Amino acid sequence: MRPTYQVTELLGDGIGSELSRAVHSLSDALPIRLEFVPVDLTLENRRARGLKVYEEAAETVQATRVALKYPTTTAEESPNAILRRKLDLSVIHRPVYTIPGVPTNFRRELDLDIVRIATGGTYDDPGRMIGEDGAVSLRIVERRPVREAAHYAFSLARRMGTKRVTSASKYTIQKATDGLFESVAKEVAAQFPEVPHNSELFDALLGKVIMAPEKFQVILVLNEYGDFLSDMACGLAGSLGIGASANLAFDAAAVVRVALFDAAHGTAPDIAGMNKANPTAIFLALSMLLYQLGEIGLGHTVRTSTLDLLREGTRTGDLGGSETTESFTAAVAAEVTRRLESASPQGVATPST
Ligand code: NAD
Repeated sequence: MRPTYQVTELLGDGIGSELSRAVHSLSDALPIRLEFVPVDLTLENRRARGLKVYEEAAETVQATRVALKYPTTTAEESPNAILRRKLDLSVIHRPVYTIPGVPTNFRRELDLDIVRIATGGTYDDPGRMIGEDGAVSLRIVERRPVREAAHYAFSLARRMGTKRVTSASKYTIQKATDGLFESVAKEVAAQFPEVPHNSELFDALLGKVIMAPEKFQVILVLNEYGDFLSDMACGLAGSLGIGASANLAFDAAAVVRVALFDAAHGTAPDIAGMNKANPTAIFLALSMLLYQLGEIGLGHTVRTSTLDLLREGTRTGDLGGSETTESFTAAVAAEVTRRLESASPQGVATPST
């Protein structure tokens, strides 16, 4: 009997349906059963059903606790922002790494896990004018999301084998806000004595990531710093189009309650329906989802099979290759099957068992 997990599938626009088919084919190659529970977030359905569709999405995700979201067109509203609010997704985990064979201007190897507090900072207050020549906005830092993010960052570092956690902020200048952030990070660090922790000033960190990327593994940051750092790191890795993220909500004990995984790219309307979409980012999102389910070995196999095929030159057109969405997916599924079979002398359970 294969272990079964329910996964909410938030269906989107453009290349979303092709990516969903790719995910289903890859899942069929796994020795577990992912039971997908679809919610239709296409623009057409959002326009027809209005805010009700988000109620359904939120209820379904709360029930299954894990979700895979395909890109959605941002029109009247941003589905991502609504889901973030409804599900209280307060932390974003974005792995960023150089992928051998993916073109980049950066000549070093980079392998970062950026853990960003996704609420507060300066982003929750649009600010206001003071007279005609000045403007002010509030910068908000709250203990709870910092504690949740820090707990997640240290747990991640521990799970990956005592990797270092670096918290970065401007604590010397922003003494109240960034001081609170650093003090919570230190409190949480004390619960993980085996995980090395250090603090960096955020401006210095940017330079150091470029000059000595090997010194950084898990980086914990407040909202706006995380926003800047993620884009800079993706630019260095040359992989803006193939990044994936986990969006996380926590329970009172700072344990992940709900996790929504998505690709960083959009709906790619210019290539929709043409069998040209690169499913790498959604496969990396699926790999993170498998880790979250506790299927660490499978998550690792999906990730490394996808990345190794890219390295060896099996790539879709956007990365200079000649594979289609379907042929790339078939190659990843075959590679995953091959690795699982060679890892287990008895072979893996076939999908029909
Ligand atoms: P985009 O990421 O959709 O496309 C930018 C370029 O990258 C296009 O040339 C596209 O063909 C290419 N591209 C993107 N993903 C690809 C993939 N998987 N394989 C191959 N090529 C790929 O960005 P955009 O054009 O600015 O946005 C289009 C729509 O997507 C907009 O409505 C935007 O709001 C939405 N969007 C949604 C999300 C999300 O739901 N998470 C994120 C970004 C943009």
